[in-house]
Amino acid sequence: MTSRTTTGSTDGIVVAGGGLAAQRACETLRRAGHDGPIRVVCGEQHAPYDRPPLSKEFLAGELGPDELRYRPDDWYREQEVDLLLGERAARLDAHARRLALDGGAVLRYDRLLIATGSEPRRLPGVAGRDNVHELRTLADAQGLREAIAAGRRLAVVGAGFIGQEVAAGATRAGARVTIVEAAAAPLAAILGEELGGWFARLHREEGVEVLLSARIARLHGGRGVEAIELEDGRRIDCDAVVVGIGTQPATGWLAGSGLDPAGVLVDGAGRTVAPGVFAAGDASRPFDARLGVHLRTEHWEAAARQGAAAARAMLGLPVAASPAPSFWSDQHGVRIQYVGHAHGADGIEIDGDPGARDFTATFTASGRPVAALLVGRPHALPALRRRLEAHHDERTAA
Ligand SMILES: Cc1cc2nc3c(=O)[nH]c(=O)nc-3n(C[C@H](O)[C@H](O)[C@H](O)COP(=O)(O)OP(=O)(O)OC[C@H]3O[C@@H](n4cnc5c(N)ncnc54)[C@H](O)[C@@H]3O)c2cc1C
Repeated sequence: MTSRTTTGSTDGIVVAGGGLAAQRACETLRRAGHDGPIRVVCGEQHAPYDRPPLSKEFLAGELGPDELRYRPDDWYREQEVDLLLGERAARLDAHARRLALDGGAVLRYDRLLIATGSEPRRLPGVAGRDNVHELRTLADAQGLREAIAAGRRLAVVGAGFIGQEVAAGATRAGARVTIVEAAAAPLAAILGEELGGWFARLHREEGVEVLLSARIARLHGGRGVEAIELEDGRRIDCDAVVVGIGTQPATGWLAGSGLDPAGVLVDGAGRTVAPGVFAAGDASRPFDARLGVHLRTEHWEAAARQGAAAARAMLGLPVAASPAPSFWSDQHGVRIQYVGHAHGADGIEIDGDPGARDFTATFTASGRPVAALLVGRPHALPALRRRLEAHHDERTAA
């Protein structure tokens, strides 16, 4: 790519990516009194907006695009936050402190925040067909919403949280939904087969067909997929397909920059090894002091917190230690939450009634709680988080 322009002599703070982490960083910078230039390179044509409703209320037709925005246009004008809509970061020269955009412009920066989020993993042979969808952006969600009009048949490949939420939202919108999952239970790799089985039952009770240990053998149809044939011979006729098989960091553009394109390694305050360069949200792999490793979190609460933390670190302000990570999911009207890390867990204790969609599953390691799944108990999270953190502190002090 050739450089056409170099904008400004000193360009203050530049944010690559215009999602949640970027938004929280901008808000924190202005609140903390930073009055220098802030420019946000937004890959999409939209000002920063909230993604979780895309697979929930938006998909079910209960929210419109304007209701997803974090802030109105006036806010960006008043706060003098310059949004470069539809521009993409293409190359970073961290030594010269220059960010090249794919349109040819080059932005110089004093400090840069990398917040380009995640992108969906693609299923070879399936991606790119006319009626195959993924769900990351508002544009994806708009396409999917049109495809799931009442009575249409939707095949959801992958029973991760996004796939399950799409199945629930599409069912609510009147579609007939089949989930195709290669593992023996949804989320088996994170929660184990017993708890994963609870998710399969939830969907079946709500009218979703759930096919487990189901591997795709071939697709039928031309430009669009008309049916999915499984290795065991079963055939799923469909009008549309959604692939939800996980994400990867949207950091391929960092190749050659010296930063890891497999998720930017940062400390607890979002600092990278490159001077003046910070990273936050799904694009980053922060150091987790509890586990002693770098981990991508891929969740809303972490992206919001990391965006704010990186902004404070940019200004040389202290940054609080991060709490145990948590996320939520809404499926068929049931609030599901997860807190902590189940790595190394050797037991599960169930409290409550899974059949009534009201229980807590606590993961334990040597008898101590390390993570928990809450179903239908939205108010129990803070106390549970404190309990996990207290046990962790005891363990590290011992
Ligand atoms: C459908 C859906 C439902 C979700 N539901 C939940 C939930 O229920 N609970 C939960 O905890 N989390 C949920 N999440 C995850 C949560 O939304 C993300 O963790 C969060 O949005 C991450 O914020 P981010 O700022 O790191 O990235 P993003 O919000 O993805 O923002 C990154 C932005 O950068 C842009 N970008 C990418 N590459 C470039 C580039 N080269 N140059 C410029 N811009 C670029 C992207 O287009 C995007 O606009 C959901 C995510 C999705 C997609």
